[in-house]
Amino acid sequence: MQDALTIDCVPPAVLEVVRRLQERGHQAWLVGGAVRDLLRAGRERPAEDWDIATSARPRQVMQTFEKVIPTGVKHGTVTVLSQGEPVEVTTFRGEGKYSDARRPDEVEFLEEVDDDLARRDFTMNAIAWDPFTGRMRDPFGGMRDLEAGVIRAVRDPLERFTEDGLRPMRAIRLACALELTIEEETLKAIPAAASSFRKVAVERVRQELEKILDARLPSSGFGLLAETGLASLVLPELAPLEENDWNRRLRAMDEVPPGNRPIRLAALLASSGERKQIESSHAPILRRLRFPKATISEVGLLVSVSNWREVDPCRPADLRRVLARVGADRVEAVAALWRALARGEAHGSAEETVERLCSALLEEAGRNPPLEAASLALTGKDVMRVLGLGAGPEVGQAISYLLDLVIEDPSRNRPETLKKALEGWRQA
Ligand code: ATP
Ligand code: MG
Repeated sequence: MQDALTIDCVPPAVLEVVRRLQERGHQAWLVGGAVRDLLRAGRERPAEDWDIATSARPRQVMQTFEKVIPTGVKHGTVTVLSQGEPVEVTTFRGEGKYSDARRPDEVEFLEEVDDDLARRDFTMNAIAWDPFTGRMRDPFGGMRDLEAGVIRAVRDPLERFTEDGLRPMRAIRLACALELTIEEETLKAIPAAASSFRKVAVERVRQELEKILDARLPSSGFGLLAETGLASLVLPELAPLEENDWNRRLRAMDEVPPGNRPIRLAALLASSGERKQIESSHAPILRRLRFPKATISEVGLLVSVSNWREVDPCRPADLRRVLARVGADRVEAVAALWRALARGEAHGSAEETVERLCSALLEEAGRNPPLEAASLALTGKDVMRVLGLGAGPEVGQAISYLLDLVIEDPSRNRPETLKKALEGWRQA
């Protein structure tokens, strides 16, 4: 396993930082997720995702490099711009006292790397490696645990989870993303740490949730959240769901290929049209979790067309309405969502139906039908001229009316036909 750690896995920008710190007589080690992931699979990482731990104080780090950003000097972190890339350097530190389960009140800087490793969350994240000498520090048996595929808290799990309430969620996210299991005592401590978890800032929770959504099988993370009781704190809005419905949503999420967060969120939050459901309205949930506005509106669009049973593949106008609502460039996303929702259902019967529907939708999109005001055969100016109106809300209404006619039947999209339709609209 150790063989996976070779110096050529490390970006030159990162090596440069380690070398310069060591030249000045400081200790400098690679630590954290990058070392862990190299040990697992020799995975490549961008420079910015490497963590360097050093005996140098933040001030000394800042003196060693020309370009630095004092990202979190109080907590010992300085970002060094090395060969144009940001590299995080953190001074060895302990955790000080936690009075709020969020951030240590004060950090104490330390001299020894092992003492720094002791404040880290899980044994596999508490391994240090010197890429130049090949030396390793692994005081808590992280390599052994990694080999066995288990996530184990460094020292006493409940104590560590009470210090920082995010750690239970990190355990679940890491288990889900890296497809490992959580060691028994560590897992048992999660429900016991619920009151600390409640105090964690929602942004930190959301970031972990996003990493769960990006995993190959997000259902395993959501399953663990449910099993440990965290689900009712992370997503209280979904707590009233019946077990079948919850499981169906998790299966649907797994059926969306990774890398499509909004589609997966839509699969989780769209209510099934089959039975009467509680209305798990997506927007307030995502806003509460402080998802970016763009994500919220993307999920909203997808959820608004999620009820595929309402769409008749034999009615092209139905298909065009779906496309008009979400925008033709989302056709693949809609198809991915529909497939996932159908596959998430317990009985396989829906799959063929949804396949036919998706082909029909993609085919209709391929015909490039007029779906928006800009593709109407009359411009806004034409409409104003025909109606003898100046700019105003009525023009907008007239355009929507025309668009509706054209979506229903694209052959109507000719100036003469639309002019006639406008006359009729004026009289009505
Ligand atoms: P990822 O692969 O997602 O980056 P990571 O383990 O590297 O996972 P980071 O947030 O980048 O996660 O943290 C880097 C390292 O800092 C971790 O490996 C761990 O050693 C330590 N760490 C991060 N968050 C905590 C925490 N809440 N409590 C204790 N140690 C932590
Ligand atoms: Mg990391």
